[in-house]
Amino acid sequence: MYPDTQLYIDGQWRNALAGKTLPVTNPASDEVIGQVAHAATEDLDLALAATERGFNLWRKAAALLRERADTIAAIMTQEQGKPVAQAKIEILNAADVIDWFAGEATRTYGQIIPSRARDVQQQTLKLPVGPVAAFTPWNFPINQIVRKLSAALAAGCSIIVKGPEETPASPAELIKAFADAGIPAGVIALVYGTPAEISEYLIPHPTIRKISFTGSTRVGKHLAALAGQHMKKATMELGGHAPVLIFDDADLDAAAKELAQSKFRNAGQVCIAPTRFLIQQGVYEAFVEKFTAAVRELKLGNGLEDGVTMGPMVLGRSVDNIEALVQDAIAHGAKASTGGKRVAGKGNFFEPTVLRDVPLSARAMSEEPFGPVALLRPFATYDEAIAEANRLPYGLAAYAYSRNIATVNALGRDVESGMLSINHIGFGLPETPFGGVKDSGHGTEGGSEAIESYLETRFVTVAGR
Ligand code: NAD
Repeated sequence: MYPDTQLYIDGQWRNALAGKTLPVTNPASDEVIGQVAHAATEDLDLALAATERGFNLWRKAAALLRERADTIAAIMTQEQGKPVAQAKIEILNAADVIDWFAGEATRTYGQIIPSRARDVQQQTLKLPVGPVAAFTPWNFPINQIVRKLSAALAAGCSIIVKGPEETPASPAELIKAFADAGIPAGVIALVYGTPAEISEYLIPHPTIRKISFTGSTRVGKHLAALAGQHMKKATMELGGHAPVLIFDDADLDAAAKELAQSKFRNAGQVCIAPTRFLIQQGVYEAFVEKFTAAVRELKLGNGLEDGVTMGPMVLGRSVDNIEALVQDAIAHGAKASTGGKRVAGKGNFFEPTVLRDVPLSARAMSEEPFGPVALLRPFATYDEAIAEANRLPYGLAAYAYSRNIATVNALGRDVESGMLSINHIGFGLPETPFGGVKDSGHGTEGGSEAIESYLETRFVTVAGR
């Protein structure tokens, strides 16, 4: 059973005032499995009014989310496609994020600044920035919301979330957990509709004081410009094209196994997915062989079935895009060491694909594939690898494997990315930063800095007279 999804506004689940809905399709079968309510301006006005009233109140819902993890995971897999085990991990991680930010709420300290005059006391207070508008995508339907929601609530803000229309029901379960935990009406609103209409209405609206967006660089630049025009704070989590640097002295078995899992998690629809694999000449053939063998072990299928480790892509257009990128790379001289094709029949399935000897002229080496394709090519020297790693305007995540301490230390300085994971896959914990540089955006959604962007600093100076 797949549920229809309503809007959550002012503590109530309800249809759009005008009754409009959008269909939801299962990416494994192309069938329409439900409907999601489509908000119009009049619905947004109700959410805005309620969010204004609800400002400054919240309670935690992590326990309910943990209790309901199995049920919500099944809902997420039906609408999003990822294997149910991955969906469950996402939900349990979301509960951790809520707990972590709830704790962080008690540490939003200001400062006492020593004054130059004897009778003057100078202090800074950290105050919530105000009502927030958040816009989140379909690849991690819960995780993308919970990071924004938990940080906003911990800072004392209220929030309107524009959720992903493609995968609406699992995010609704996240909001339900907060609602059932007793969050007062108006603190959170959840709306769906036409993304551009909603963002163009909410971002300039005087009620909204901060925005946070996760999605493509193209849309992010547009929304950041709109936010700038209206002097709103903005956090931007955008696209990436993560380089992976494998050096001659790397533990190749660990690298092949960990990277195969990480690359094809969520069918590669992950902004931090390892994508450009740069492998030092001496171990190139060995790595290609080990990595390809690990990828061949993946089982493609409906995420609700036992043993499936990679599901369909969420959108039909994503399969078209991946197919075009793979064909273009092959036309430029790359070779598929496994996969390379879409799967005929129902559903948005594309084989887990490893392309070797990919030339820089292939489009995929510069355009974010956002799908199940790994691009492999050899390099000779450290400097050559760094130049390629930093070639693109993106700078979200990067990975490296080396046992040489000098190489490891140099990488931390030389790779231009917001996050770098060396000799393991270590991203995404609530307490560590999560964010990019360059065209991958600005701001972080993890760690103590994440809450900063939902706070403003007020300076108060008092003379003792
Ligand atoms: P997209 O940017 O068109 O859409 C991403 C999300 O933004 C969707 O949920 C969409 O509804 C919403 N959106 C689109 N236009 C909007 C607007 N004008 N106002 C408000 N919201 C809007 O990209 P897509 O093709 O659906 O998704 C794939 C891309 O998203 C990838 O290429 C990747 O770059 C990016 N992405 C990034 C992250 C990240 O964490 N940085 C996560 C997921 C997706």
